[in-house]
Amino acid sequence: MKCDKCENQAAYTRKYSGQKLCSQCFSNSIVRKTAKTISKYNMIKHDELVAVAVSGGKDSLALLKIINEMALTHNFRIKAITIDEGIPGYRDEALEIVEKFCEELNVEHKVYAYKDLFELTLDEALDLRENKKTSSCSICGTLRRRAIDFAAKDIGANVIATGHNLDDTLQTFVINMLSGDTTKIGWMDPDTSANSLRKIKPFCEIYESEIVFYAFTNDIPFQSEPCPHMGEGIRTEIREFLNSLENQHSGIKNNLYQSILKVSQIVKKSNNKEKMICKKCGNGCTGDVCAVCNMVLKLKANQT
Ligand code: SF4
Ligand SMILES: [Zn+2]
Ligand SMILES: [Zn+2]
Repeated sequence: MKCDKCENQAAYTRKYSGQKLCSQCFSNSIVRKTAKTISKYNMIKHDELVAVAVSGGKDSLALLKIINEMALTHNFRIKAITIDEGIPGYRDEALEIVEKFCEELNVEHKVYAYKDLFELTLDEALDLRENKKTSSCSICGTLRRRAIDFAAKDIGANVIATGHNLDDTLQTFVINMLSGDTTKIGWMDPDTSANSLRKIKPFCEIYESEIVFYAFTNDIPFQSEPCPHMGEGIRTEIREFLNSLENQHSGIKNNLYQSILKVSQIVKKSNNKEKMICKKCGNGCTGDVCAVCNMVLKLKANQT
């Protein structure tokens, strides 16, 4: 089977389009698609410093590689940041991988720990929660958003880039729908140009399976061990459900993504709640105290 773009043997078939590509042409297509997404949403501007949030998983390391190559030929700079949640065993391995990869790429890298920022590791926070109804990932995700914001401001970045792919977007959309959290659907619009610290997801139009293949063909040494809390939430079930739909109906993920783009823009416009300042930390929020401070205060109240 020959590559559709050159004389080489094809190594990958895009089921939704029928396109057959060799490893090199496949990798080029991922780089091109990423660049197209960045330029379509004007994600990075001249002279900006981009904080690339690198966890040690395939998505963030692939993003770091691609965006680093872009930075070498375009007028913007990058630095890598990693959040250490304090999950024994799991994060240590990831930190080693990220450290080594950043050194290879010659990218400056800094680690920020929950323990330093919130005086609690994730495991300590989980022990303090009142009941198990609040999932590990919802506590972790709330803390991570704040930690990444802090890290980006600390290094003086204008933009935060994360490795979220198209599948992550679909899963988050379904989770928000199932939990009745329509406000968060408005946050899913990839156009973040109105924010002072912009959050960008350059892989948001690329299937997870393609990032996996990119990481393998480019010998990216990612952490394969999943987080011990991974299976606790509903995300894994939704991921499997969407994958089985895609297997039966190629391209259905792309269709859902297009719908999310439209719906998120409409919800964003109707979300115009008055912005207030959190009394505890000074970050923007919609009440007196922001969700992060609220959660940390509640957890610490359980500490004796
Ligand atoms: S799987 Fe959940 S608990 Fe583990 S790092 Fe991710 S968000 Fe945090
Ligand atoms: Zn080719
Ligand atoms: Zn706050």
